[in-house]
Amino acid sequence: VAAGTGVTAPFVLRADRLWGPTERRATPGHVFEIAVSGGRIAAVTEVAAAAPAADGAEALGGVGFAVLPGLVNGHTHLAMTLLRGVGQDLPLDRWLAEAIWPREAHLTPADVYWGTLLGLAEGLLSGTTWFSDMYLHEEQAAEAALAAGVRADLAVGLAGEGEAFDHAVDRAVDLCRAYDGAGSGRLRMRLGPHAPYTCPPASLRRVAHASDRAGLGLHIHLSETRREVEESLARHGATPVQVAVRQGIFDRPVVAAHVVYPRPEDLPHLAAMAGGVAHCPGSNLQLGSGVAPTRAMADAGITLAVGTDGPASAPGLDLWQALRLAWLLPKGANGDPSRPTADEVLRWGTAGGARALGRGDYGGVAAGAAADLVAVDLRGPHHLPEGPLAAQLLSVARPSDVRHVVVDGRLVVRDGHLLTVDLDRVRSECVARAARLATAAGT
Ligand SMILES: [Zn+2]
Repeated sequence: VAAGTGVTAPFVLRADRLWGPTERRATPGHVFEIAVSGGRIAAVTEVAAAAPAADGAEALGGVGFAVLPGLVNGHTHLAMTLLRGVGQDLPLDRWLAEAIWPREAHLTPADVYWGTLLGLAEGLLSGTTWFSDMYLHEEQAAEAALAAGVRADLAVGLAGEGEAFDHAVDRAVDLCRAYDGAGSGRLRMRLGPHAPYTCPPASLRRVAHASDRAGLGLHIHLSETRREVEESLARHGATPVQVAVRQGIFDRPVVAAHVVYPRPEDLPHLAAMAGGVAHCPGSNLQLGSGVAPTRAMADAGITLAVGTDGPASAPGLDLWQALRLAWLLPKGANGDPSRPTADEVLRWGTAGGARALGRGDYGGVAAGAAADLVAVDLRGPHHLPEGPLAAQLLSVARPSDVRHVVVDGRLVVRDGHLLTVDLDRVRSECVARAARLATAAGT
């Protein structure tokens, strides 16, 4: 299989349970059969479980499987796989200054390519089909995403001020133009002003203007820690969300990452923007940032996605785990197990993520929907006896339950094996590169 192409030979997915955006069950002795064509679901029919697929197509899955839309990772920094395990047990500011930035200063473009590919492999094998990424050398992330055959929304990371920043914005716009729409539209590009605390107001305004002129969306970290909000109020008399709004950031479609400490007056701005909030519960826990008020945000009409954040500041790129935290944390924090429901959280992880990234035809398992699909094996002991599907998946699903993954109509994972990525090569490249970065950083 050539890089990036996946398998386009005729295949169908089969399962006796479907989810997207609600659960459906096949009648006994039958399975749903999902046929794809040209990047879309062509048909969902019920067939006898023992019947061979029509026209010699390969039938993947069957009884004991569930098919659902591919998971959408709403916020990550994939190439930070190379920094995994670095700076553990530090708060965000010290984690960045003492552990991450000294290594990132030595990152090469090739490091970003291989580190991104490793992250894509981990994500794909656990059922993520769409990755919303922000990082340095993002052209390398684009090449890796094309090679892996994933859907990706890539933000060119920007920080700083002055002339150097203006030049970086110009280069970022050129990079976005070069890759936006590549891979038959699977790649979308946007500008990634890192955060209001690393991009002063004039820099945010500069990026907002550039994105407006180039017709690009934005991706930014907002209100991640209590300290960030307090410092913003002291310095600007405004919350990070309000600073972003004032500088025109919300005039474009935005992915707002984290938003752990929105003030009540921030919520209408977040609800009115095109885009959504990428909730990253694992990262918010690992860095001691806190628990985002997702219930208040959902009730305010804000589109919610779920992200892992980068694998150095979060427990890996397993979106099931992020969804599990997004499901359980508010129940404990609010003392109310009724919200959010499992179906609500699984929608955040599928259709919600897609809506935050600007696409409304994603997140269903029905004819006409995007053919980004995951077949999950539910025959393991941890799945039995079965319960309502969304709650079952959020309770116990693991990456290793993911057997087949389809992106844009192409099979990219079959029987738990990546078809588009040479994992042995990725492994050896990444281990060597991570060791070199540690040595260069002197830690
Ligand atoms: Zn982040």
